Amino acid sequence: ASKSDHKGIFRFYNDELYQSIRSKLDAEEELRYAIAKKQFFMVYQPRVDTRTGDIRGFEALVRWQHPTRGIVPPAQFIELAESTGSIVPLGSLVMDCVFRQIAAWQNMGETPVPISLNISPRQLDAGGVDQQIKDLMKRHKVSADLIEIELTESVMMSEVPAVIDQITAIRQMGIKLHLDDFGTGYSSLSRLQEIEMQVIKIDRAFVSRLGTSSQADVLVKTIVLMAKELDMSIIAEGVETIAQLETLQHLDCDEAQGYLIAKPVTAPEARKLLQQRRIFMHAENDALPV
Ligand code: C2E
Ligand code: MG
Ligand code: MG
Ligand code: MG
Repeated sequence: ASKSDHKGIFRFYNDELYQSIRSKLDAEEELRYAIAKKQFFMVYQPRVDTRTGDIRGFEALVRWQHPTRGIVPPAQFIELAESTGSIVPLGSLVMDCVFRQIAAWQNMGETPVPISLNISPRQLDAGGVDQQIKDLMKRHKVSADLIEIELTESVMMSEVPAVIDQITAIRQMGIKLHLDDFGTGYSSLSRLQEIEMQVIKIDRAFVSRLGTSSQADVLVKTIVLMAKELDMSIIAEGVETIAQLETLQHLDCDEAQGYLIAKPVTAPEARKLLQQRRIFMHAENDALPV
């Protein structure tokens, strides 16, 4: 190859590297700006009693109201927020918003149900999450039974004393802990007892395989039985079909969450669901009036 070819190739790589660094910096900067400008809002997805459809709680999920790209889902920014540390100020916005929302519903006279919040490992690494929650509970007069925390298995496996301390402190305030995405991580079963989580959320991956093979059903059945033995309650995530719901009822899974029941909705829509108290999940099975 001639000298100029070489240079060309060299420059090509450099440009590509430069571009990728540049776009990551741009994305980081944009996210930081978005946090400063509070371009985020929360949506709420109900979870229901598998048998009756009674609403047992909502999960708060963040959305980015982007000025040009529209509504951006967390899959497109949470990872970046975690890797850059922006999840810490973003997590504060989220917590603040959710507590204000609970207080608002209380002030409107709604009978509240617990709202669960997702907390990333990085937020606990940064510290002070327990104190933040304590302050918010006090400021907004929200009792411990109205707020719940969702943690993934990676958090539960943390060996960092400060992380364990925060989780313990949160639990000691009377706040229930959910083990999110159960089955996708590497948690040891013994750890389940040590940290004393109250709720297991079976990951969508297992729920979506229900009915496709006997093994898939046995797996979920085993998780449900284990949860009951450990005195934990159990929520199935990502329920999309009536058949899945019926299998979950049959397996005695306590609660279900998923598009079949409801997609995550805005706060005003969540309030309507709250007033309705119950979601009818299989109207087609209802007996016709005589
Ligand atoms: P996650 O906590 O496991 O939340 C469940 C995700 O599954 C949500 O996606 C929800 O919209 C989606 N989902 C619910 N039902 C169904 C279904 O039937 N089918 C399918 N295909 N999907 C369903 P979302 O809102 O995009 O959130 C994705 C992830 O981003 C969450 O997973 C959570 O790990 C993270 N996340 C969301 N909000 C926050 C937040 O405020 N803070 C932190 N730290 N992480 C968040
Ligand atoms: Mg969750
Ligand atoms: Mg999950
Ligand atoms: Mg998840």
